[in-house]
Amino acid sequence: MLVNKRTPLSPADYQPELVAVSTSADRDGEAVRPEVDAALTELSAAMRADIGEGTHVFSSYRSYARQTELYNSYVAQYGQAEADTTSARPGHSEHQTGLSVDLMGTSGQCRLDTCFGDTAAGRWVAEHGWEHGFIVRYPDGLEGVTGYEYEPWHLRFVGVEVSTAMHQQGARTYEEFLGAGSAPDYR
Ligand SMILES: [Zn+2]
Repeated sequence: MLVNKRTPLSPADYQPELVAVSTSADRDGEAVRPEVDAALTELSAAMRADIGEGTHVFSSYRSYARQTELYNSYVAQYGQAEADTTSARPGHSEHQTGLSVDLMGTSGQCRLDTCFGDTAAGRWVAEHGWEHGFIVRYPDGLEGVTGYEYEPWHLRFVGVEVSTAMHQQGARTYEEFLGAGSAPDYR
């Protein structure tokens, strides 16, 4: 399931099957598809075994209505051009698929900040996320392909088969792997 600035959700108000995120600091607040929660639990345990801290999800599924509120608040604050570099327009957010999460290490360093990529937790998810079916969806310097600035905290579940193939091929983005073409903007 590809979702980006040139490939909206269909239907726009698409809603996945959801369960509460087990590895969230706020269990009532976060939800993902069941297979994503299972993979996140494994990822967090493997990370804890390696570096002594697990992961906390702080953002996950967002409904079309919630994305509308969020995007509109960014536009009001920063203007549309700036908002479009960081927040998806309603119906274009990967968070609406139930397959994407924003996370941090349980130590809480660099929440929602690009410095997360330089923390032990950020380096671990970038290096090992694929072993559990996840990719860092918006890598550094590839805004022209993905349409978004570097977000080391935003992981997308693609399943172990796809993440392994991407790792083996050295594909840096989902767009590149699918041969889907770049999605730098809304056209
Ligand atoms: Zn995100």
